[in-house]
Amino acid sequence: MLYKHVLVAVDLIEECRAVADHAMQLANALNAKLSLLHVVEPLAMAYGGDVPMDLSMLQQQQFEQAKERMQLFAADYGLPEEQLQIAFGQPRQEIHRVATEQACDLIVVGSHGRHGLALLLGSTANDVLHGAPCDVIAVRLGKKG
Ligand code: AMP
Repeated sequence: MLYKHVLVAVDLIEECRAVADHAMQLANALNAKLSLLHVVEPLAMAYGGDVPMDLSMLQQQQFEQAKERMQLFAADYGLPEEQLQIAFGQPRQEIHRVATEQACDLIVVGSHGRHGLALLLGSTANDVLHGAPCDVIAVRLGKKG
């Protein structure tokens, strides 16, 4: 088998459905297992790690909301609960960790084909590619025609 376990990273916005659809078709064609992963980014990280209050309640809510959103997002794919995963942390790190722990041999992410300043700022797809524990496919988003 070319790939046995495909991990698709989803940010749970509608645009990402194209990425999940692509991964699903690929997994079906290869007779591989498919898992979906969404990474919740800690609020403290978004604010530079320096927030003078207890964020644990908010983070718990973030986590619960992400679980609900994941279930809605994945409703059409007919995957068992354990193949819908939520992690907490920095997307690159968590995607690599889950791919390693679950012996995934292909990671699928969306890519915006950025250019100019946005390219300098980088993207999750770029991040994930560097140091990935397995092959990575970047599905181009926002294609015209
Ligand atoms: P971006 O860098 O925000 O344009 O995201 C590109 C792709 O990275 C998305 O289409 C997803 O495949 C993946 N991605 C971005 N953020 C997350 C996240 N929080 N959890 C899982 N995957 C993500």
